[in-house]
Amino acid sequence: MTAGSGEQPVASYLSPAADGAVTVDLPVPRRALAVGAHPDDIDFGCGGTLAKWAAAGCRVTELVLTDGSKGSWDPTTDRAALVALRREEQRAAAAALGAGGVVFLDHVDGELQSGLAERAEVCRVIRESRPDVVLGHDPWKRYRLHPDHRHAGHLAVEGIVAARDPHFFPEQGLPPHRPTGLLLWEADVVDHVESIDGFLPAKMAALLAHRSQWRSTMGIDAAPTAEEEVFAGRIRDRAAEAGAVGGVPLGEAFKRIDRL
Ligand SMILES: [Zn+2]
Repeated sequence: MTAGSGEQPVASYLSPAADGAVTVDLPVPRRALAVGAHPDDIDFGCGGTLAKWAAAGCRVTELVLTDGSKGSWDPTTDRAALVALRREEQRAAAAALGAGGVVFLDHVDGELQSGLAERAEVCRVIRESRPDVVLGHDPWKRYRLHPDHRHAGHLAVEGIVAARDPHFFPEQGLPPHRPTGLLLWEADVVDHVESIDGFLPAKMAALLAHRSQWRSTMGIDAAPTAEEEVFAGRIRDRAAEAGAVGGVPLGEAFKRIDRL
């Protein structure tokens, strides 16, 4: 498949691989693990892909690294209550995608690190959930501002390196595990697209499950019905733009790494 070969122009924020080689649709994995910095990141990044795979029998696990405790514009927010609420919202979002479960590591929002201790935690979840495919933030995305997204991306990559090698964290007492594929969303260079035709409603349902983020992230506030339509239009446009890279109607765009 040649990038941008179809009728639709490729959106400028998506930079397809220079050689034009874009693959479309991995075989449905038996198990998949998505690693996100905050509640809602996974739903934005790969919610349609996870819904599609879950519907085809894939066991999907979500790993959320931080507690989401800074996810409010209101300075008087009770942050403990916000953490509990965002946990429930993430569980509801996962259910909307058909995901099997959510693991929360509860690092403080905005203060995530990608050191050895955090790497061990991600390694453990990979060894326990034994995914064929791991999905995460692209840590090499240029001009990325949020440090949690960069650290979360590094943790997905480095967690795989640790999980596959028996000499990393042997005290875990778990057999090593080597996934066969890694898909990075917010990709600096896009070379893979998953078609999400038919799964945009599930992605939207997952996103809207994050009720606490309607105002700050989704622009849904005073006039919810109209604003929800605007938000849904934005998500559909993004999916169409990502799909255009791979020549499919609706998609999610990734950097694909196979040599794990
Ligand atoms: Zn985030």
